Amino acid sequence: MNRRRLLGYASFFSLLTLLLGSCALIFNTIWTGGQQQLDLTPPPPTVFGPRLIIFALDGTPPAQLMQAIRSGNAPNLAGLLGNERGQGLFDHGYAAPRALSILPSSTIAAWSAIFTGTPPVANGVAGDEWFERETATFRAPVPVSALDTADVSKVVSDDLIGKTLKTPTLYELIKKKINVSLLSVHRGATLYTTVSPASLADFLTFLIKGTLKGIDPEKSFAAALDYSATQKLIEAIETNGVADLQVVYFPGTDIFTHVSEDPLERQVRYLRFVTDKSIGDVLEAYRKHGALNDTYVIVISDHGQIPTLNDDRQKLGTDDEHSPFALLKRSGYRVRKPLLSLGELDTDYQAVLAYQGFMAYVYLADRSTCAAEHQSCDWPRPPRFKEDVLPALEAFYKANRSGEIVPELKGTIDLIFSREPAPIRQSAKPFQVFDGQRLVPIPEYLRLHQRPDLIDLDRRMQWLGAGPFGHRAGDIVLLAAACPQRAIDQRFYFAAITHHTWHGSACEQDSRIPFILAQAGGSGERLRALLRKFGGDAPTQLMMTPLVRELLK
Ligand SMILES: [Zn+2]
Repeated sequence: MNRRRLLGYASFFSLLTLLLGSCALIFNTIWTGGQQQLDLTPPPPTVFGPRLIIFALDGTPPAQLMQAIRSGNAPNLAGLLGNERGQGLFDHGYAAPRALSILPSSTIAAWSAIFTGTPPVANGVAGDEWFERETATFRAPVPVSALDTADVSKVVSDDLIGKTLKTPTLYELIKKKINVSLLSVHRGATLYTTVSPASLADFLTFLIKGTLKGIDPEKSFAAALDYSATQKLIEAIETNGVADLQVVYFPGTDIFTHVSEDPLERQVRYLRFVTDKSIGDVLEAYRKHGALNDTYVIVISDHGQIPTLNDDRQKLGTDDEHSPFALLKRSGYRVRKPLLSLGELDTDYQAVLAYQGFMAYVYLADRSTCAAEHQSCDWPRPPRFKEDVLPALEAFYKANRSGEIVPELKGTIDLIFSREPAPIRQSAKPFQVFDGQRLVPIPEYLRLHQRPDLIDLDRRMQWLGAGPFGHRAGDIVLLAAACPQRAIDQRFYFAAITHHTWHGSACEQDSRIPFILAQAGGSGERLRALLRKFGGDAPTQLMMTPLVRELLK
C-alpha cells in the first residue's frame, strides 16, 4: 500500500486527560503547530464504492450523546439521523440501545479492541498502562499511575500502539484508502493527521504545572484540540480528496468531562456546541466534494464516565503511606516505583502496579529468584501462587474488609480477581474471584452474589485475562468500588491525580457506549438490519471491525 503520512510532533491528548489547563498560550501552541510530511508518495486514487466516516468520541456515554442529539442544539448529528422513531431507530440511522465496551472500560485498550475486532487477551493491549513481564517493561500510553509522558509521544511519533498490537488493524484488513485523524491506533492507515505543538517538551511542562479550571466548552483547551484536529483532516481532504475510510478521533469530550464540575451535564453542552460543530465541518467537507450521499457514518465511543469526587480521599494513589503501593510494601514486597524508567538501584522490584482508573493490575515475581535486595527478579517466569500471589491477595482482602495495614483502603475495593499463574508462553487462565478463602469461578460467584450492576462480567473478564496475552493484565486485578448505585463519596479510583469523573469499571455507566450507524438519506430500517447482524441490540466494541468490513466490502 502506498503510504503517505502527515505526522506532527505529538497529539498529547492522553496526557491531557490527566493534566489540563487552559490559557491563550495553549491555544496559540496548538493553532500554530506545523505538520511534517514523511512520505511524498502520492496516495492511491479514490475508488468508487462505499465510503465510511467513523466519529470516535472519547469518553462519551450514550445517554449524554442522545440528550445532546435530542436537545435541538446538535443540528449536524440530528440532521444526519433524521426523525427519531423509537428504540434506537431514526429515519436515516440506528443507535444500538445497549452497546458495550470491553474491560477495562479505558481508552487505549478499548480503541485497540474497536479497531482490531479483538479483545485485549488476543491483541496484547491490556489498558492505559500495563507491564510486559517478558521484557520487564512498563508502558503508559495514557499515564494513570506514572506521571511520565514519554509513552504519550511514542503513541504519535513511534506508533507505540501499532508496535504492541498482536492482531491486524481494521486498516490492514480492508486495504483501502484510509485517513486517520489523531487516533492512537493508526498502524496500516494511508494517511495519519495530527495536531502538532511547536515544542512538545515546553508544552507538556506547561500542562504539568497548569491548574484545572472549569470554563465554557467552546473556550476550553479540549475544544481547541478537537477543532484543530478537524481543521487538519479537512485540509488533508482538500489536498488528497476523500478517503474510503476516514477515522475522526475527538479526545476533547473525555478531557473536558474529567475536569468539569457537574461533568455529565457539562459534557452534554460540550457535545452540542463543540463535537457537533466539528462533525458538521467534516460532513460539509464531504458535501463539498460531492461525497456525502451514500457515505456511511459510525459514531462510537471507548467508554462512558462515572462522576467521582475530585478529592484525594477518593484516590487510591501511589504514595508510601495510604495507597496500594504502601500496602504491598508493608506486606513485604519490593514495589516498582510508578515511573517509566528506573535507576539501576530500583530494578530489584518484586511487585508492579498498573492503574486504569476503576481497575488496577498487580504483577508479581517469583520471589525465590530475587530474595536479596538489589537482586533483579526473573520476570518472564511466573510467580508461585502460594508464596508470591496469595500473600498479596490476602493483604488486599483484609485491607479492604477491615483496614488492616492501610486503614485508608477499607471499603474501597469491590472485587479482587486472581488465578493460578501460567508461564507467559502458555495461555493465561481465566480470572476468578478471591472470596477471602479461595478463588471462585466468576459464574459461580455471580450465582451466589447477584450483581446486576456489573455488566456481562464473566465474558468481559475472559476477554481480558483468559488467553495468549492474559498475563498483560497481571496476576491480580482489583476492581474499585465504583458503580453509581453507591454514594459518590463511596466511589474510589486508582490514579495518581484526582478528577470529576473516572472510568475503567464493569458498571453500566462507564461500560455502555454509543454505537450508531447512519447514512445521509439512507433507510433507518436497512441500517438497523446491518448493525443488528453484529450483536443484535447489544453489540460489543469487538463488532465494529467486522461491521466495517461488511460495509466496505
Ligand atoms: Zn477514553
